[in-house]
Amino acid sequence: MIVQGKDFQSGNDTDSQNDYETSGSGEDEEVSWISWFCSLAGHEYFCEVQEEFIEDDFNLTGLPQIVKNYEKAIYFILDIDINEGKLDSDKLAEIESSADLLYGLIHSRYILTSPGLKQMAMKYDNGDFGICPRHLCNGTYVVPCGRFDQLNKDSVKVFCPSCLDVYNAPSSRFNVIDGAFFGTTFPHLFFNTYPDFLPKEPAGVYIPKMFGFKVSEKSKTGPRIQWLRMLPTTEQEIKEITSTPEEKTPQNA
Ligand SMILES: [Zn+2]
Repeated sequence: MIVQGKDFQSGNDTDSQNDYETSGSGEDEEVSWISWFCSLAGHEYFCEVQEEFIEDDFNLTGLPQIVKNYEKAIYFILDIDINEGKLDSDKLAEIESSADLLYGLIHSRYILTSPGLKQMAMKYDNGDFGICPRHLCNGTYVVPCGRFDQLNKDSVKVFCPSCLDVYNAPSSRFNVIDGAFFGTTFPHLFFNTYPDFLPKEPAGVYIPKMFGFKVSEKSKTGPRIQWLRMLPTTEQEIKEITSTPEEKTPQNA
């Protein structure tokens, strides 16, 4: 697996993924709630949050005020028995929905940590998040993201590191997944941490043509702001773009 990036939070994250599930005695191979949740249709973008992360109250600061049935929802997520048999079906459904919400909120925090980023990197490398729908991005892998960090504002979207744009997720089953479960920071922290995942070639630019001739930029149907797709490649080009007008003018003592 590639996953290079810096280990900025130390931690001996041994390859924790994949063999989490039989954390118990081993005789009956029950799937944990977290694994089950992540395996549901529409939940393909979620990674499996490590239980240690959830068990640390510090990581959950502020969430009890947001999520109803908070304690029971936590027990659900961590597979702690809450005597479900004693609950009526309405209450059970309510707790299940609280657990879904709570997991999403925990997930948005977890994927900003070193182990979370690493797990998402594995999924990215695997192509689990799909490819950019823009033809000239040549199948660049995308990452899930939210357009807002607040709940109930918008569903999850995907961000393409080639054209630097966001797109609707490729299936309607993602429409019910809140974008806040991934958040606005994740895609950019992700590529900052794993720059090797950034496309090596700039995104292709579409050239409108009629009868084989380029359409004039002055035409109403002509090309617009194509330079947005043209990422700087040389040191000089990067310098030109990043230097501010102040840097260009000589300083007065
Ligand atoms: Zn793209």
